Amino acid sequence: MNVKVRLHQNIAILGSTGSIGTQTLEVIASYPDRFTAAYLTVNNNIPLLLRQVERFRPKGVVVLDPAAAETVRSRCGPEVEVLTGPEGLSDVVRRTEVDTVVSALVGFAGLRPTVDAITAGKRIALANKETLVVAGSVMMPLAERHNVRLLPVDSEHSAIFQCLTGEPAGSVTRIILTASGGPFRSLSANELRTVTVEQALKHPNWSMGSKITIDSATLMNKGLEVIEAHWLFGMPAERIDVVVHPQSIIHSMVEFADGSVKAQLGVPDMTIPIQYALTYPDRFPTPTRRVDFPSLREMTFFSPDTERFPCLRLAYDALRAGGTMPAVLNAANEVAVARFLAGAVPFTQIPVLIETAMDRHVLRENPTLEDIVEADGWTRDILSTF
Ligand code: NAD
Ligand code: MG
Repeated sequence: MNVKVRLHQNIAILGSTGSIGTQTLEVIASYPDRFTAAYLTVNNNIPLLLRQVERFRPKGVVVLDPAAAETVRSRCGPEVEVLTGPEGLSDVVRRTEVDTVVSALVGFAGLRPTVDAITAGKRIALANKETLVVAGSVMMPLAERHNVRLLPVDSEHSAIFQCLTGEPAGSVTRIILTASGGPFRSLSANELRTVTVEQALKHPNWSMGSKITIDSATLMNKGLEVIEAHWLFGMPAERIDVVVHPQSIIHSMVEFADGSVKAQLGVPDMTIPIQYALTYPDRFPTPTRRVDFPSLREMTFFSPDTERFPCLRLAYDALRAGGTMPAVLNAANEVAVARFLAGAVPFTQIPVLIETAMDRHVLRENPTLEDIVEADGWTRDILSTF
């Protein structure tokens, strides 16, 4: 499949004020001759958006809330177009001057604009893993039809993508995703019952948005990544393994038919996979720290414990079940994480809520996009009574 390599890329960032969005802007700022931030889109962080507009002078912005959009309009002047709502997202990703869309909204909200960007034939740097989890069966054929390659931003998938470069199709026997294990790796099942939101938001190696940080603490993030890897690399569930590697230096590995294993290593810094998704197949210099092996001293590996962290098992179950089940897993997880962050349920209730929704769901095979949207809504409805 072709990837359009252009000397200059006009980029639309879905979620420019988020962790991935702001780091994408740092990459863009370091190569002004190669990249322009053409469109920025945000949910509600208006002060940061205004600073970004000042610095990057985009052609347009999308602000989800119409009232907040009015404020932005009055502050930015006529040279910056201000759009609103989900329609605004779908509009800007299709603009002819946009070459690349960085899909970095969090959660199910990213699905529609990512599908629209694929349909418009844009180069896609994909951070929003939830869209592939819920709709991989729709998005992968769609991308193929439109000759679009989904370039992974997620560090594990970027690692696998890099390990696969130059290797013949059919030579891979196993994908091994590494996981940091999160902040609660060493806690007992009993101790997990009383962990606080504040403790869960302290990730040992990465600084990320709150939803993915909680997903990392439950190991659901790794579960979502197993499903993401299934779609991106065409691997069945039984050939995708997870190994806990607390140092987060090996970002993932690929095992080949001859028993050889390739790994991609680097310091935990998301600007590396973000930039690679934008420059692929080129590699440009970055100012990031380098791996200093002597000071690392050791790299350790453990099997994940799905008794203490059932979310990982639930994700494998959803992948094996197929159809609309991953959409139910994802929606239930979004609901459960939001409740935990609001202080409404304990940490250990997150997998219980997800399993409740999955148990009740009558799955639909070969779902359309509408079936997936419906399964997402069904899950949110059913959980409102629990
Ligand atoms: P974040 O919460 O920091 O940022 C989310 C962005 O999306 C913000 O700009 C916000 O304004 C916008 N947004 C949120 N909800 C929206 C909605 N309903 N409509 C429109 N805009 C909305 O999240 P993040 O950590 O940057 O993660 C973004 C995505 O990238 C997630 O899917 C996450 O799993 C994935 N990812 C993140 C990292 C990381 O290091 N942060 C690593 C790998 C993958
Ligand atoms: Mg990841």
